[in-house]
Formats: sequence, C-alpha cells, structure tokens
Amino acid sequence: MAGEPQADCLFCKIVAGDIPATIVRESPNTISFRDINPQAPTHVLVIPRVHYANAAELADNEPQLCGELLSEAGAVAEQEKVDVTGYRIVFNTGAGAGQTVFHTHAHVLGGRDLQRLV
Ligand code: 5GP
Ligand code: ZN
Repeated sequence: MAGEPQADCLFCKIVAGDIPATIVRESPNTISFRDINPQAPTHVLVIPRVHYANAAELADNEPQLCGELLSEAGAVAEQEKVDVTGYRIVFNTGAGAGQTVFHTHAHVLGGRDLQRLV
C-alpha cells in the first residue's frame, strides 16, 4: 500500500531506528539527519517517516505532508543558520539524476558558496 515501510529501504530503517543517524530535528511526520557523505558544511536530509520513492509520489499521495517536508527543510536551514547566507533544497529524482536512495528526501545544503545550477 502507498506509504508502507519497505523492508529493503535504508531510510525506512533509519525511521525504524534500525540504522543509526545523526538526527538534527524531528516532527511527528518527518526526520532530519546529517548526510553521511556531506557535500557542504550543512548537508541535512529531510525525510517523511512514510515511504514514497520520490518527491512527486509524496506530493501526489500526501500533498499536506509534502508541504510539511518543505517547512521542515526551511526550519533546518534556520536551525543551522544557513538561511542568512542562502541554502539549496534538492530532490534528486531518478537514477539518471543521481538518486541512489528511493525514499523521498530533501537535501538541505548550505554553508559554502553554491554555484547556480539553472
Ligand atoms: P540521493 O543520491 O538519493 O539523492 O541521496 C542519498 C543520500 O543519502 C546521499 O547523499 C548519501 O550520502 C546519503 N546516505 C547514503 N547512505 C546513508 C546512511 O546510511 N546514512 C546517512 N545519514 N546518509 C546516507
Ligand atoms: Zn523507505
């Protein structure tokens, strides 16, 4: 069923507490934790506790939660104080775009100069 935990999903395991993570923020429906391979001084992943493969699937099934995820990403940026200098929220979608974990996650990146992408 949509949103159900997936046995082979790394981030479902983090939600379940089966794999450790450095959690920086939690809400009833989301968890935010530091990326294991940070690409910037601040590199936090914000995920819904429920499993959807990508941001579009989450938005289609649970639009309110999708909004909440973005609010949490903003709150992480404030907490990390990168809201002052600027930060980037990234959703890689599909292997061709570099997605490696198929559980919706927003990358929150900041704390260094971020080149314009588009
Ligand atoms: P993607 O490439 O799917 O957009 O992002 C997946 C991210 O998850 C990568 O930036 C990767 O470094 C991070 N990651 C992979 N495995 C783990 C892990 O076990 N713990 C944490 N905290 N991050 C992970
Ligand atoms: Zn999952």
